[in-house]
Amino acid sequence: MAEEGRASGELEGWKRDRGRTLERIEQLKREGVCYICHDLETGTVFGQQDVIYEDDLVRVVLDAFPRVEGHTIVVYKPHRDDISYLSEEEAGTVFAMCVRVVKAIKEGLGAEKVYLLTMCDGKINHLNFQLLPRYPGNVMGYRRLSMARRALADAEEAAEAIRAALEVDEGPA
Ligand SMILES: [Zn+2]
Repeated sequence: MAEEGRASGELEGWKRDRGRTLERIEQLKREGVCYICHDLETGTVFGQQDVIYEDDLVRVVLDAFPRVEGHTIVVYKPHRDDISYLSEEEAGTVFAMCVRVVKAIKEGLGAEKVYLLTMCDGKINHLNFQLLPRYPGNVMGYRRLSMARRALADAEEAAEAIRAALEVDEGPA
């Protein structure tokens, strides 16, 4: 059927894109280059991303290969291997941003809760936080963090909903 044909075509395209991105990341790692710093400088690893918010210190984007709808990444732009390398001031900056985005995901996408995860594996790691929404009726707990990755659907819509909620939060006190 046409619909199924289209869906499987999209899935193939997504697998190909993800394969290319992972290959590029591995290549940069072999060269001793941090792929997140490299992407922040050149935009050549992830390509066009759905940016929700950006300033000098943080970039907030939808994960290109989300585990759940609204899977969002908060990147602290200066290279820090993991949270133990943050000064208290930096920690304040980045966690305050995470809190704002969590609130915006709840408000904008109707998430019941938002899980926060930071992984610091591998030789070259660049601190980032993964925000994984849980919606009413979703399975709770750790399984939410390891759902299979899939193609990003309705990305611009989701990014816009979070962005709009973030702007409301920013309004005059
Ligand atoms: Zn880096």
